[in-house]
Amino acid sequence: MRRKRESIFKAGYIIGLLMISVIAFALYSHRLREELRELVRNTLKEVSNQNILVVQKEIEGDLAALEEIAERISALGETDEKEILEVLKRIEERYSFKRMGYCRTDGILHTTVDDVADVSEREYFKASMQGESYISDPLIDLMDEEEIIVFSAPIKSDGEVIGVLCAPYRVDSLKEILAVSSFEGEGYTYIVERDGNKVVDSTHPTSFQNMTNIFTSMTEADQRNYQAVEDLKRILNDGRTGYVIFYNKVGKYMYTTPLGVKDWFLIDVVPVDFMENTSNYIIHRTYLMCGFLAVICAVIAFALMNEERRKKQRIQNLLYVDELTGGNTLARFKIELEHRIQVHYKNIALIKMDLDDFKLVNDLFGYEEGNRVLRFVGKTLQESCRDGEFTGRSNADRFVMLLLYDEEREVRQRILKIAEDIQSLHLSETLEYLLHPVFGIYYREPGEDNIEDMLDCASLAHNMAKQAKNGIYRVYTNEIKEKELQKKQLSDQIEHAYKNHEFVVYYQPKYDSRTQKLAGAEALVRWRRPDGQMVSPGLFVPLAEESGFVCKLDEYVFREVCLAQKRWLDKGLGIVPISVNLSRRHLDNPEFIDEYKAILDESGVPIEYIQLEITESAMFEKKDEFVQIMERLHDLGFMILMDDFGTGYSSLMMLKSIPIDVMKLDKSFVDDYDDARGESIIRCVMRMAQDLSIAITAEGVETEAQYRFLTSVGCDTIQGYYFARPMPEEEYEVRMRA
Ligand code: C2E
Ligand code: CA
Ligand code: CA
Repeated sequence: MRRKRESIFKAGYIIGLLMISVIAFALYSHRLREELRELVRNTLKEVSNQNILVVQKEIEGDLAALEEIAERISALGETDEKEILEVLKRIEERYSFKRMGYCRTDGILHTTVDDVADVSEREYFKASMQGESYISDPLIDLMDEEEIIVFSAPIKSDGEVIGVLCAPYRVDSLKEILAVSSFEGEGYTYIVERDGNKVVDSTHPTSFQNMTNIFTSMTEADQRNYQAVEDLKRILNDGRTGYVIFYNKVGKYMYTTPLGVKDWFLIDVVPVDFMENTSNYIIHRTYLMCGFLAVICAVIAFALMNEERRKKQRIQNLLYVDELTGGNTLARFKIELEHRIQVHYKNIALIKMDLDDFKLVNDLFGYEEGNRVLRFVGKTLQESCRDGEFTGRSNADRFVMLLLYDEEREVRQRILKIAEDIQSLHLSETLEYLLHPVFGIYYREPGEDNIEDMLDCASLAHNMAKQAKNGIYRVYTNEIKEKELQKKQLSDQIEHAYKNHEFVVYYQPKYDSRTQKLAGAEALVRWRRPDGQMVSPGLFVPLAEESGFVCKLDEYVFREVCLAQKRWLDKGLGIVPISVNLSRRHLDNPEFIDEYKAILDESGVPIEYIQLEITESAMFEKKDEFVQIMERLHDLGFMILMDDFGTGYSSLMMLKSIPIDVMKLDKSFVDDYDDARGESIIRCVMRMAQDLSIAITAEGVETEAQYRFLTSVGCDTIQGYYFARPMPEEEYEVRMRA
């Protein structure tokens, strides 16, 4: 569901991004086109300005040259026609004029090519007779009918015009100057008068041929030019610059500028296509670039996404694949379980299992071997899965499993078979070692869908199976839950009870086996509820151990015992050593040693009257810490009693490295004294203890027969109901006095 929403979101995101890109790109290309148009217009304007400069320079240069010649002739004061023509003939090659000529005030022109003509009616003659230099409109050469412009300048004597110097200039020369290619040969130039009449036309193949008036030519070229003609007329009339688009086969751009000579205008023309082609070219290049970039971006994005996906996959693998066994992790198992309970398929049994003594496997055979065992268990569970069933490992040696069944009996049979398969693993050549798999089974109630609750129930059954210390599995029942609930309630009550002084210390005397005299006592905590009801330590001590509260409780007992011993000392009673139990939880927190020492010192009781009991099984949980703590306690002067000897796993060698003063033979040995095996074990232990100079106390001695036997084999002290049950302080005091 979340995935689906995620991908919809992603798709929307990509579409949005695409739309924004397209809009941005459209805006950008519009803007680009505009800018390119502007650029081409500016280029047109620049080319036009260049042309103007060239034409101006040519015309004005020529006129200035003519004026200079006229002045020089004026200065000569020469009036003789022939003389003047001689001078002109000599210099005319230096100028770009077609020829030169001179006429007197009568308007009869004598040229350097010895022609004679009457120009008295020509405008230029008239103007120069008024003392002005002049440039004529285009004229037809009277001599050869070529198109010309005539430059004229007055020749003066004493301020009077005595003649006119004339020089025709070929229009074709201007044409040549203007024909210098612009816009890669696509552009060309006209010069026209204000009324549109041609001054200089163009030789360019796409220009108007035989143009006499630009307006007429435009009108004739295309009907659509109507507006363009009107616009051009207005521009010329206003004597300003301006753009016009017109058609002559193709659309063309026309830029018009006043030439600054007479009333003439320069018109530069370039096809619209040329402009558009240029900008299109640039735009296409830009598109291409953008496309290329987009492809690169897409490739990069794809690569990144791919990498992201791979990362996700790796993380998922970490989350869902158990590195050690290659099977499911608990997280994966839960997901599968969730799926399975949604599909109504047979009955579901949830199994929790572990190896009862896995820690021992690690200790005895090393971690590598431990891992091999776990892989083997994982494989065995997986291989016993049928269709639709699956397993997972939650942590360490804890596994979970889902089995499908028709009858509960099948599940139990299959569990036993799995246990057998696991036990088939051969661990060591030299040591016969059997694994102890323990299972908790929970049969799912129809319709139940809270997988955490279901797993909790399987865990409860599993815990029960472990506590039972026998058998391979336990099936979850409501009673188990009930018990668990009670335990939980009890656990919650302990702290309150402590503050409420509900805990008291009982003493169980120990007797010397030979003299039968009081030799010591063990302090045992009791929980007496306000209503007088006693709660068994077998019930609440494990709970207090679980929560860690037991350390506080132990310290309380220790202090109470110190104070009691002190009171008895002060009363002058012959006290005997009292042993106090030390929970394994103290191993986590060695600071208690200083605390205990301080309490003891404060009480003023000599240290030999307080002994410490620690259970044997605590030793192999934290071996190093255990040894260190025992050594420190022993160095301080405390006697160390090894409790429950024989129940846990005790390497006999370890006994050598721990400073043990007394071994407490567990009740289970005492109970078995009368079978042959039990007897020989006791004898053996006794011998070993004697060799190590360790004293022996027998626990749980209930009968005279037991007492006699234990005494006969050399047991030093006897503790048990045979002599006395644990008792309140007052009763114990009575025993002391006896
Ligand atoms: P434990 O340390 O092995 O204590 C000996 C237990 O054996 C005591 O049970 C005692 O009442 C019982 N017992 C003694 N003689 C006989 C006998 O002849 N027959 C039978 N059936 N039982 C006998 P209790 O007092 O119920 O204590 C149970 C366990 O609770 C103790 O086992 C000890 O592990 C723990 N415990 C008791 N008090 C303390 C304490 O102050 N601190 C800690 N950490 N644990 C305590
Ligand atoms: Ca004890
Ligand atoms: Ca014991």
